[in-house]
Amino acid sequence: MPLSASLEQRLLPGVLSVPSDELLRWLHARNEPPYRVKQIRRWILLRRASSFEQMTDLPVRLRAELAAHFRVLGTELREVANTTDGTSKLLVGLVDGRAVECVLMRTEDRRTVCVSTQVGCAMGCVFCASGLEGVERNLEPYEILEQFLHATRLLGPQERLTHAVIMGMGEPLANLNNLLAALEVVCSRDGLGLSRRRVTISTVGLPAAIRRLADLGVQYHLAISLHAPTDTLRNQIVPVNRKVGVEELVAAGDYYFEKTGRQVTYEYVLLKGINDTIDCARRLAELLRGRSVHINLIPYNPVESLNFETPSPHRVRQFTDYLRSRGFVVHVRRTKGREISAACGQLRLRHKRGQAAASPHNATAQSASPGN
Ligand code: SAH
Repeated sequence: MPLSASLEQRLLPGVLSVPSDELLRWLHARNEPPYRVKQIRRWILLRRASSFEQMTDLPVRLRAELAAHFRVLGTELREVANTTDGTSKLLVGLVDGRAVECVLMRTEDRRTVCVSTQVGCAMGCVFCASGLEGVERNLEPYEILEQFLHATRLLGPQERLTHAVIMGMGEPLANLNNLLAALEVVCSRDGLGLSRRRVTISTVGLPAAIRRLADLGVQYHLAISLHAPTDTLRNQIVPVNRKVGVEELVAAGDYYFEKTGRQVTYEYVLLKGINDTIDCARRLAELLRGRSVHINLIPYNPVESLNFETPSPHRVRQFTDYLRSRGFVVHVRRTKGREISAACGQLRLRHKRGQAAASPHNATAQSASPGN
């Protein structure tokens, strides 16, 4: 029956989810040399193969054997929503039926992918769609890696990814080992060859994990989602702050800069009437005083079912000008995909709640401004 055949096909593991030693054993049992692993990975990572059949430098019999035991990718692209400004939002289906979001953003000189690290999120930031239903599970390394691959496959043959931001669903530092394993491949020469300096890891701010990342001495760009300059305010909008505190968080940011030499970005979502006053700007300048940091202001991107509002452009300008007058480098993040007007995490929520997105207007994308 075709149905059960396709079901069987779905249950085959993606070849990138198989540990190298296991794949080596599998090849050895078929009298194939170890270098086949490299060949197969090259086809998938660099040459964007979508079937084993395309891997023309492998023996025909091996290609058939591979196809009988594995799939090229273990995740599937379930849906793509495109906007006129060059943003594509991808819904990536996982083997257990769950799904995560991933965004590809195109500007004149950049091709940036934004990837998820968890299904849902446990942090509970009050303005964010990703955490509305809590966290379901961590993504495996191959599930993180394959988001890059799905995005790459939407590019033209001559186009390459230039930047990555780990700003999709989930808290990257709560799944740090799996993220690092995926990034190893993304940033290796045999993988996608992306420079570590062009990968931004955005965190709600878990100091112990920030310090651990700093101690690795790798050159990833770190962005800390601060969103409020005082504990009183941050405790309300970023609940995990109750266990952390802004002073400890900024100290961890300083440590990251000391250890890696990379300037830290502080992200600050502007919520009308909540954290967008000039008094907040003044306190923020006080908190970060004397540090060479970037500040990334993100006007709130409306989330269905949440009651926050976006500040007026005038207020955003005043906030920005104040910080600049105090000597900070400030960027205001542009929202990409205006006509698909919602925030990160909503495409998946709609799917989960049975309201499948039928048009690009039901999808969403957020632009992110990565490091250099
Ligand atoms: N867990 C990570 C990644 C989250 S997404 C973190 O907290 O940094 C990346 C950024 O988008 C974070 O700064 C997050 O707070 C912000 N964000 C989430 N929902 C948003 C919304 N509705 N509007 C604007 N920014 C939002």
